[in-house]
Amino acid sequence: MSGTASDCLFCKIVAGQIPAKITYRDDEVVAFADIKPAAPLHELVIPVRHITNVAAVEAKDAALIGKLMIVAADRARAAGASDGFRVVTNNGAGAGQSVFHLHLHVLAGRPLSWPPG
Ligand code: 5GP
Ligand code: ZN
Repeated sequence: MSGTASDCLFCKIVAGQIPAKITYRDDEVVAFADIKPAAPLHELVIPVRHITNVAAVEAKDAALIGKLMIVAADRARAAGASDGFRVVTNNGAGAGQSVFHLHLHVLAGRPLSWPPG
């Protein structure tokens, strides 16, 4: 799915219809604080355009997906995550995806064990 999904929580955050602590915004990418942080730094980096998840990414999205990674690293740097950070995306309900608008979790500020649960 692509564009804006009317029933999508993150499309509503992009549109300002649901409040969020926005930390970065441009025409293509928005970052905001996770409402239920799993680490001292926990932000979500999302495309403005509705894309369901990684499995829905197409070749034409390559530059946009690269930009998500760049913004994720910028957010970690901005938070002073000098001791390492994690960028992770859950793809599908079986992997823990609960909001079906592509998002990169950026986590830092505590020891991050591997593998995740
Ligand atoms: P997922 O489970 O899909 O990988 O991640 C969804 C994330 O969105 C979760 O970490 C959850 O805490 C966060 N989240 C869910 N609803 C809201 C909301 O209304 N506002 C914000 N800022 N984050 C949300
Ligand atoms: Zn959406």
